[in-house]
Amino acid sequence: MKGQPEVDVIVVGAGIIGAACAHALAGRGLRVQVLDDARGGATGAGMGHLVAMDDNPAELALSHYSIGLWRQIREQLPPACAYRNCGTLWLAADGAEMDLARVKQQTLAEHGVAGQLLDGQQLAALEPMLRQGLGGALKVPGDGILYAPATAHWLLSDNPLISRQAATVQGVAGDQVALDDGQVLHAPRVLLANGLGAQALVPALPLRPKKGHLLITDRYPQPLSHQLVELGYAASAHASDGTSVAFNVQPRPTGQLLIGSSRQFDTLDPEVDPTVLAPMLRRAVAYLPPLAQLNGIRAWTGFRAATPDGLPILGQHPQQPGLWLAVGHEGLGVTTAPGSARLLVDLILGERPAIDPRPYLPERFTDLRGDTR
Ligand SMILES: Cc1cc2nc3c(=O)[nH]c(=O)nc-3n(C[C@H](O)[C@H](O)[C@H](O)COP(=O)(O)OP(=O)(O)OC[C@H]3O[C@@H](n4cnc5c(N)ncnc54)[C@H](O)[C@@H]3O)c2cc1C
Repeated sequence: MKGQPEVDVIVVGAGIIGAACAHALAGRGLRVQVLDDARGGATGAGMGHLVAMDDNPAELALSHYSIGLWRQIREQLPPACAYRNCGTLWLAADGAEMDLARVKQQTLAEHGVAGQLLDGQQLAALEPMLRQGLGGALKVPGDGILYAPATAHWLLSDNPLISRQAATVQGVAGDQVALDDGQVLHAPRVLLANGLGAQALVPALPLRPKKGHLLITDRYPQPLSHQLVELGYAASAHASDGTSVAFNVQPRPTGQLLIGSSRQFDTLDPEVDPTVLAPMLRRAVAYLPPLAQLNGIRAWTGFRAATPDGLPILGQHPQQPGLWLAVGHEGLGVTTAPGSARLLVDLILGERPAIDPRPYLPERFTDLRGDTR
């Protein structure tokens, strides 16, 4: 027989998504217990670029909504979260790529995201470290950065209605959670927010690991002031197979440069792979030649949880009442954490979300519906 649940929601996973969900649930007065096995995940390995991505309307709606929510709490974030509203420069290598910049500006503007086109000279004046002769850029001033591990920690400690427990979840069934020490916990709602680890608990989840490499430099006096991304980044980010690299560099508030990015499928090997890291760095030096003179002090890898359509899975499991899902945030989960959390809490409380929840619902996947409709 079940005892009386002591909390309203059990959240599995204390990465940025579990933390944002716990924070949003507690903010609505719900008692939340967060379980995490401390193995860590993408949150500790990622870049923390808060970026309005526009590969499809749903991605843009969620990222734009979320960036606005980050901005609303920016004053509350402690310094360790290292939030900066540095903006993004989407770089056009030549005149032809300026056409891509113009299309991107238009798409963003249709969703209320401001962007400003810069010609080659204006770009060089803003970021003199860039190679000469670039076509220009689209500047998106609303984008930013933050340090996700510290932010997850703060979100979990900001409300006394949230309790944390070190625990490895071995199974979930509806509103019940089985731990590896034999305990079974239950609550009116269980929320799976444990990234790639969710697939072991719900095998029908269509998640696939996408490995990424990052490298960080030593500290230097203010080398850059914007996050710099090549316009070809989206093609790399959304490729559904193969290995790709793209130029993506972030100035850390410490004066370090965080250099990405790469994408690789069908591997769970955490080792740094020189055959991927080398082309990634060559590409970075091609855009930022002085990088070749800076010391790289650490390289590492992480795994994004990718879904077939590139959108997260947010909502109640279609076949397991009481089990809620917030997984599959791929390479955008730091950006989209607050919007995902707010949307999920609205669904849990039966309220109307600020953005259309349908593109993210679990039932869009046949395997989760459990039928062949
Ligand atoms: C290289 C790289 C660069 C990235 N860059 C960016 C970026 O610039 N901007 C951006 O927005 N996003 C970026 N991302 C994506 C972002 O980091 C992720 O989408 C986000 O961190 C996912 O968070 P999460 O909470 O869903 O999962 P995770 O961070 O993986 O957290 C899952 C948690 O669940 C726990 N867990 C797992 N299984 C269990 C279990 N059975 N029992 C108990 N606990 C369990 C783990 O210990 C972990 O703490 C990047 C990712 C990578 C890898």
